Parts: sequence; C-alpha cells; structure tokens
Amino acid sequence: MILVSSCLAGMKVRYNGTDSLDVHIQKLVEEKKAMTICPELLGGFMTPREPAEIVGGTGEDVLRGTAKVIELSGKDVSDMYIRGAHEALHIAREVNASLIILKENSPSCGSAAIYNGTFENRKIAGNGVTSALLKREGFKVISEEQISEIF
Ligand code: SF4
Repeated sequence: MILVSSCLAGMKVRYNGTDSLDVHIQKLVEEKKAMTICPELLGGFMTPREPAEIVGGTGEDVLRGTAKVIELSGKDVSDMYIRGAHEALHIAREVNASLIILKENSPSCGSAAIYNGTFENRKIAGNGVTSALLKREGFKVISEEQISEIF
C-alpha cells in the first residue's frame, strides 16, 4: 500500500483550509492503490489552524529535542507534531507501506525542503517531522515533486 498526504489527494486539510491537489495522487487514491494520512490532524490539530514552521533546525532536530515547531503567534506545538509523526508511523507499519508520498515544504511532510522558521517564505534543505521519523524507521519517503521518477 502507498501512503499519501491527504492534501495532495484533494482533501482540504491544510492549515488554511485549502488542499494541494495533485491529480496523479488523487488517481492513486481513487484506484485504491493509496490511502491518505494527514500527520497534523493525526497529531490533534483542527483545520483551519495557525501556520507553523520548524525553528532552529529540521524534523530530525525536533525529534531529538534540539529544535521546535512554532506557530506564527509563537506557541510551541512540537509535541503535537511529534505525536502526529508517531501516529503516521503506526499507520505505515500497519499497512506495511511500500512508498510514502508527502507534500513538499511542510513542517510535517516536507522531505527535501522545509521553511526556515522565519515565516518569510524562505526554505532550507531538510525533512519535516513526520518525514524524518518515517525515513529513520526505514520507509521510503518522496514528495509529489518526485513522482514522475516513479510512475
Ligand atoms: Fe498536507 Fe501533511 Fe500538512 Fe496534512 S500535515 S495538510 S497532509 S502537508
């Protein structure tokens, strides 16, 4: 089974209530080749919610406690991001996920780039919290920007 970010399949679960529809991902779900996960909802967030960025590092650093996920208003929401990552890992293990396609640039789902924590639309190379955990545990994680290499 393939796991995909819910927002890529057209579900309006992004922080601002929109989706990030990718028709190729949506087709995988419609054909029942993929199932959706949203780590932020799994972590206990609602939609809409405040935008958040990783401050002081990458997803790996959040997992080891040396960086934080901070909302625009300044609230530390690292624990909810870590909880969502572990819930996503649980699902990945349950379905024995062969491939996980997650939305690039997200503080949860980014797998090559994330925003740098300044809320100024600047990116750095690195994983979001969920991608970092899933990769660490041996799952293959790519973004929607790489699916042409696979399909
Ligand atoms: Fe999409 Fe991932 Fe953000 Fe959920 S956590 S809205 S799946 S990018």
